[in-house]
Amino acid sequence: MNHVATELHGSTNPALPSALSHGTSIAQAGTSVSSGRAAMNLRSAEEIAAIERSGVVVAAALEAAEAAVVAGVSTAELDALVRATIVAHGAEPSFLGYPHAAGGPAFPASSCISVNNEVVHGIPGVRVLNAGDVVKIDVGARFAGWCADAAVTVRVPANTNHALDAHAADALVISNATIDAFIADAWQTLHVGISAMQPGMRWSEVAGRMQRFAVSRGHGMVDGWHGHGVGRSVHEAPQAPSTVSAGLREYRDFTLLPGMVLAIEPIVVMGAQGVIDDSGCLIPVPVSVAADRWTVAVAPGLVAAHVEHTIAVTRSGPRILTRRTGVRAGIALNDCNGGSSRLLG
Ligand code: MG
Repeated sequence: MNHVATELHGSTNPALPSALSHGTSIAQAGTSVSSGRAAMNLRSAEEIAAIERSGVVVAAALEAAEAAVVAGVSTAELDALVRATIVAHGAEPSFLGYPHAAGGPAFPASSCISVNNEVVHGIPGVRVLNAGDVVKIDVGARFAGWCADAAVTVRVPANTNHALDAHAADALVISNATIDAFIADAWQTLHVGISAMQPGMRWSEVAGRMQRFAVSRGHGMVDGWHGHGVGRSVHEAPQAPSTVSAGLREYRDFTLLPGMVLAIEPIVVMGAQGVIDDSGCLIPVPVSVAADRWTVAVAPGLVAAHVEHTIAVTRSGPRILTRRTGVRAGIALNDCNGGSSRLLG
């Protein structure tokens, strides 16, 4: 799940003192450091291990749901699997009852499930999946007081190419191969970002690498629903957007330090070629929020992918705390940095 507070949705804040915008002070693990607009926590090795135990629960719930993604299943049934898996591990679903940032209803489910042009924060319900649909499943859990957050995007299996939103008059037929390549691009966008999460790196450079990769593949991206710190709460400072904006550069940029734990969650859109302006900022794909006050969507006919991992920044580099191990958990792709094949997702 992304940061949802309205005031955090990617707008610049001219009132923020510029002295807070750049640079961080040296701090020890287990403490906090002020950078950007809020203090962010630095976790000890023991605390990172505790977050990883929550990450194991999140990964198990995602695997259970992903394995059940078939034509004819409802999104409520997938959510029930997520909830049952989290509870079976002695953990709690972080999203259930999550308060709405603008006074709307609390989130009513244990997972966010968003289909086709829906981007994030879809509410599971009676909707039945069709072959070929592109499904985003986003899960957060709290185990022994520590949280983790991750999301996957999967195509509902189909032997032949199927129309997306088959019930719609303007149903879109996209080949399975095209959808799979798009989803693989989304995973690789995430891993381009993860690979860049070295101590000392500015976050704007991490975001810039993600957006340049997605745009190079012919895709657009959504801004305004950001990655974030994770720890005692599922959403903590700082914001960690996957695109570069003037607001990020001017007010919210920060330097990665060992002990930071961040959920990284690029949102990539097929059918809307992204544009990076002369200043290096991405022109985002427009979105709308549904009457349910939660579901975020791009225009009908576009297709969104949303993938997410919780990552610890360590002295030896980034560490994925929500890695899945199941047979459907990864896609073999070339590592952008080294060209070697590795498992993504
Ligand atoms: Mg998240």
